[in-house]
Amino acid sequence: MLLSIGIISVASIVWEGPASPISDGMTRTLETMAEAVVEGDRGAYMALVNPADEKFLTEQRAWFDDLTRNSVESFSIEPSEVLRYGPAFSPAVIAVKYQWVLERDGIERSFESRIRLTPMNRNADGPWLFSGRDWDVIQSSPETELRVYADQQHGELAEGVFEITPGILSRIESEFGEALSEPLSIKIYPTMQELQFSIAPGYLDPLSGWNEPGESIKVLGRDEVSAERISTLLAHEIGHAVSFEFGESTIDAPWWTLEGIAELVADEYRSDSIQRRELRVAKQVARGDRRTWEQLSDFKGEALNHTGYVYAHGWSMIRFITKRFGAEARNNWFTQMGHGESIESATQSVFGISFEQLDEMWESEMLRLAQESESDAERERATPQP
Ligand SMILES: [Zn+2]
Repeated sequence: MLLSIGIISVASIVWEGPASPISDGMTRTLETMAEAVVEGDRGAYMALVNPADEKFLTEQRAWFDDLTRNSVESFSIEPSEVLRYGPAFSPAVIAVKYQWVLERDGIERSFESRIRLTPMNRNADGPWLFSGRDWDVIQSSPETELRVYADQQHGELAEGVFEITPGILSRIESEFGEALSEPLSIKIYPTMQELQFSIAPGYLDPLSGWNEPGESIKVLGRDEVSAERISTLLAHEIGHAVSFEFGESTIDAPWWTLEGIAELVADEYRSDSIQRRELRVAKQVARGDRRTWEQLSDFKGEALNHTGYVYAHGWSMIRFITKRFGAEARNNWFTQMGHGESIESATQSVFGISFEQLDEMWESEMLRLAQESESDAERERATPQP
């Protein structure tokens, strides 16, 4: 089936000519935003965020709330020029430089970007609203309402992502027995720093993708990488997005379960061997190289020290559950946690065993796999070569 692909070129240039000066209203808006960041004044900051795009609003709330964990010593948004004025009431595009210092390390960080400001009235000196980063291309479809945002350098990648996403999404929806309640938005960031900054000024961990309830899927664009190559990453992030439909408390379920299910639905698109990956986990478990599930649960705390185990062991346990009890029971288990049940009570009511028993079952399966591969290796060593 042909998808009708609408490429909205954001460059609806109305104003032309030499670089236009920044209006007082724009300067005031950016200054007020920056002050609110330093002072931790959520109300003042959010009052300047354009509420038209619900996903962007959710992203901005999360962005601001992270400041309570990672506060800034200083923060500024320096406008350099107006790249484009839109017609009345439509956004202007401004080149800006963000600069900030985190309290926790005192290091000055900065990057340059383009943002959109939307005038609140016809007066350029009046108040403006922050409408987010400016993008060169937006791929959109009226049928699926899918949107893919990117810069020119990732235009081809965006096209590929736009084409393969509906197929990945419908596979995952049927696997989970849940449909997305909101259309997907995917933003392809040109640099790691911009991707991190879009999450929060204090987000410094390396990452390739991101998704939280109600937000866009964010991925790091890479040059010379085809959409097929990033389909594993896309499936993982779409897995998160659909998993949030299990219930609004899903995000509070143990972190390893969330990464585990996202990793599991990405298996279909993985180029490396699933058996080899499982054997790696099994061998780790066999030599006692594991963490408690509790240690892998809090994604803002302790578990950050064990991310390798969160993903690999989480994946292995969710895979084990799926094979042992079936996808439907696994989905029910997530639905229970999505409605606020603890993992202990969800395990008891859906699988009829305690979580401790589940852990023992998984562990003995891992030991069996490790043992099996060990005996295979021994047999091979014992067999004389012809
Ligand atoms: Zn993830």
